[in-house]
Amino acid sequence: MSLAGREDSLSTSGKNEHTSHLADSYGRVIRDLRISVTDRCNFRCVYCLPEQGFSQKTRSELLNFDEIERLAHIFVRLGINKIRITGGEPLLRRGLPGLLARLNAISGLQDLAMTTNGFLLAELLPDLLSAGLRRFNISLDSLDGERFQKMTGRDGLPRVHTIMTMLEEAGVSPVKFNCVLIRGMNDDEILSFAEFAQSTGHVVRFIEFMPLDAGQAWRRELVVPGREVYETIHSRDPLTLLPARSPSETARRYTFQGGKGEIGIISSVTEPFCGFCNRIRLTADGKLRTCLFSAVEYDLKGLLRENASDEDLLRFIADSVVHKERGHRINEPDFIRPDRTMSCIGG
Ligand code: SAM
Ligand code: SF4
Repeated sequence: MSLAGREDSLSTSGKNEHTSHLADSYGRVIRDLRISVTDRCNFRCVYCLPEQGFSQKTRSELLNFDEIERLAHIFVRLGINKIRITGGEPLLRRGLPGLLARLNAISGLQDLAMTTNGFLLAELLPDLLSAGLRRFNISLDSLDGERFQKMTGRDGLPRVHTIMTMLEEAGVSPVKFNCVLIRGMNDDEILSFAEFAQSTGHVVRFIEFMPLDAGQAWRRELVVPGREVYETIHSRDPLTLLPARSPSETARRYTFQGGKGEIGIISSVTEPFCGFCNRIRLTADGKLRTCLFSAVEYDLKGLLRENASDEDLLRFIADSVVHKERGHRINEPDFIRPDRTMSCIGG
């Protein structure tokens, strides 16, 4: 793609420095960047990674921290105000708190968050807090220890309890817990999760299973529609819809009578919210993806390592974002699964 010429996606107001926003051809303004720091993982969630047989990037194929920080600065100049660190399992990346401290220091970045399976969080929490991280999303697919192990391949539930207490003691509360529901596997736990949210005051977000699993087991029948989650809970504990904090919010949020606890329902498959999507992704190996389901990627690492200037990178990103897909097309007859799976893209 040419680096020159196209001004349409990049509105600039600065003289010496671009202060701008990224917009796509549908008029969506991009504010949210997910940065994957590794494609490795210590879990084997059934909806994400197979037990074996997937390739992992070597160290030199991954962006190093200097490269990530440099790109983050450029993205923030382009109007990104929220960065979420993800993976694979981000806590497997050695030195991660150092990177977070560097990102946290970027002026103009309003929100820094991380999605993690939490398994290594207890050891790393003090360093992560010192680095300025305050927002944690933790994957939690079952409240039953055996089932947790069956779904993730690890005996990890006790650690989730430990980390919940540690986060509460550190004043990092509420925590968001992400639960991917799969028909016949954990859909009988909807009410237990609702009780968990109510009794702890934490947030449980129910996520529909998307066709991004490495094992290619996804089938429509395995998706538990968000509507069903709502009805199951609402028929027992009336739910009150909370106002959306922004049009791009992925979850419909509800609270319970009395206002303690919150659930979020993310109906990515059955009620897509692509029309308001303001997210882009940077993979661990330095590719920019404009949609989870993109068929194309834009090679930022290649440019970085060819000594591109900041202005070249900035222009390349803006040009790429123009091509952001209208939506994910999961429900179209000609839908094609992306080559890369969730653990490689960064959820
Ligand atoms: N390893 C970290 C974790 O599990 O929290 C971060 C990476 S993981 C890919 C990010 C999120 O993607 C998790 O909340 C996970 O549940 C979700 N996820 C993974 N595969 C998915 C799929 N096929 N459909 C829906 N969500 C998925
Ligand atoms: Fe690992 Fe997260 Fe994928 Fe589970 S969802 S296998 S924890 S990357």
